[in-house]
Amino acid sequence: MSVAAERLKNVSISASAAMTQRARELAANGIKVVSLSSGEPDFPTPANAIEAAYSAALKGETKYPPMDGTAALKAAISRKFKRDNNLDYDPNQIVVSGGGKQVIFNAMLATCNPGDEVVIPTPSWVSYADIVKFAGGVPVAVPCFEQAGFKLRPQDLEAALTPRTKWLFLNFPNNPTGAACSRAEMAAIAEVMLRHPDVFILTDDIYEHLVYDDFEFCTIAEVEPRLHDRVLTMNGVSKAYAMTGWRLGFCASGSKELMAAISNVNGQNGGGISTLTQAAAIAALDGPQDLLRERAAIYRERRDFVIDKLSQVEGLRCHKPEGAFYVYPNMSGLIGKTSRGGRKIATDVDFVMALVDEHHVATVQGTAYGMSPYFRISYATSMENLEEGCARIAQFCRDMR
Ligand code: PMP
Repeated sequence: MSVAAERLKNVSISASAAMTQRARELAANGIKVVSLSSGEPDFPTPANAIEAAYSAALKGETKYPPMDGTAALKAAISRKFKRDNNLDYDPNQIVVSGGGKQVIFNAMLATCNPGDEVVIPTPSWVSYADIVKFAGGVPVAVPCFEQAGFKLRPQDLEAALTPRTKWLFLNFPNNPTGAACSRAEMAAIAEVMLRHPDVFILTDDIYEHLVYDDFEFCTIAEVEPRLHDRVLTMNGVSKAYAMTGWRLGFCASGSKELMAAISNVNGQNGGGISTLTQAAAIAALDGPQDLLRERAAIYRERRDFVIDKLSQVEGLRCHKPEGAFYVYPNMSGLIGKTSRGGRKIATDVDFVMALVDEHHVATVQGTAYGMSPYFRISYATSMENLEEGCARIAQFCRDMR
């Protein structure tokens, strides 16, 4: 008899784990690996957030928190939604969880019945499909083609919706492609959804503040207020405020029923979020917001650098994304070749594994995100690392025969 429960049968461990493991082994042997695989900001958490946590601890804010978040934090989140998104959510329509990841997990556990379909624009974050399967749902990938800038085309969305569809996920700016939606593009998606009144929409806006060149972020509940009661707007402090280790995400919806179901799961799945993290999040959300623009300017410079370098590499094709901190180059021009170390490159998995073994650059294969042949580079790292990493990638590709 297997120890693991049946429900784990279709759930994989994080697909990027193999790369992390390989990079660690190399590093343990004294090899300097340039890591372009990590999806987290290389900046520090803002000092005002750290100070707020420290002072909360000294003040004795160390008791069990309310399950859905402290009143002060929910008020700060409500202000954030109004300020950044022009969305009106009362504090009682908000639930706070342990990161964006737990928000999604709770939402799926709260709503998916066996066989319910969840439409996931793909390429997509590795965890979406696994979380859906965990909850008994069926992930349905809808392709966002490179030729369409990796955006979700209304006709492809329409074709993916069935009477069994329970949810549509939206994640623009996107992990792994960096694609973001203009207001017009979002309106076109909303128009399709208006024709499907039984489908809920989860919008994962975690990369909201990471958009470049005056691109304006928008979110679907604001673009189409008629969807307000069917949209779960999700966000968090991980990427915007470089607070990945603090573990705090939140969601809000116009649907009382949906929020009650999510709150119910949230209350059992953990016992509320660390009071110190909540205090830090209030400071981050209510404090000076200049750092968002300052950091976005730095990310933009890095993006432009990576695109410029990789566009010059024969065999790679590199679409310029609007946001997040990823690029997703197409490596189809190298399929069928052999690396200098004698590795046959038949897939993007072969490509990234040969790249890490022979030139010690860690990236992630497109296969992990559901669209091949591509690989993901994260530019949430120093310019020095990016220079070294891009030079090694260029050399690796040039040496192929
Ligand atoms: N959504 C997306 C698209 C992400 O890329 C990530 C982090 N990799 C998350 C959610 C999870 O964020 P959190 O740290 O808030 O759990």
